[in-house]
Amino acid sequence: MAKSTKLTLSPTKISAFLRCRRFYWFRYIQKYQTRPRAEFTFGAALHRSLDAFHGATERPTVETLQAQFREGWTTAGFKTPEEAQRALEAAQGILEKYHQEAPPPEAAPEILLREKMLRVDCGEYVLMGRVDRVDRHPDGTLEIIDYKSGRSRVTESQTRADIGLMVYEAMIRRLYPDSRVTVSIHALRPNQRATIARTDGEFAEVLTFIDDTAHAIAAETDWEGVCDKDLCEDCDFLLWCPDRWPGRDADQMSNDNPS
Ligand code: SF4
Repeated sequence: MAKSTKLTLSPTKISAFLRCRRFYWFRYIQKYQTRPRAEFTFGAALHRSLDAFHGATERPTVETLQAQFREGWTTAGFKTPEEAQRALEAAQGILEKYHQEAPPPEAAPEILLREKMLRVDCGEYVLMGRVDRVDRHPDGTLEIIDYKSGRSRVTESQTRADIGLMVYEAMIRRLYPDSRVTVSIHALRPNQRATIARTDGEFAEVLTFIDDTAHAIAAETDWEGVCDKDLCEDCDFLLWCPDRWPGRDADQMSNDNPS
């Protein structure tokens, strides 16, 4: 069967395109690899632990949860062993609080999806992304939950503006058209959640935003970079970027793929 050439859109791709079109070009057209980052290592390890917590047939003790976390811990992306150790200790505290404040199993909502990769064909493009968790509440409401491991607080306006949750909501509403849907950011450090339910009008705006972004990506030909000092200094592709090194040819530079 011929491979689909439809544009695939994930929260990460949308965010990359909106942040810097040249970055998108490097990452998704030229397929350059990004370097490991401490925040991703930290977040991924916490996600795995929470998945194990919620997936166990019997709720694990906090000691078991923390031990599993330590066994799977890697230091990829951390600048020093001390920095990695501080992150490990912070994670142990986060897990302890999460475990302590979790509702008892008999009072917890049904978990419909955990760490689930979704792919939904929307006609002109395909939406995809790994949803952290979807709970089904007793009244049938589906709550899409996105864990954030770096934030010390979260607000409803942050939840409303979160691109990942927009994409997940678009997918879940297509997959479960008869269900009421809410979206939440669960900030793991304070173990605090901010939940919103969009009106039909707000959801229509979300769909328009996704459509518009898909069309902009499909129509893009210049891939001009933002050249924003802060963004560029932290960019994985700074050394290869023709927007930062005027006079050098982008296609020629793409042959020096650092991946
Ligand atoms: S160095 Fe700057 S302009 Fe170039 S890809 Fe990175 S963020 Fe974009």
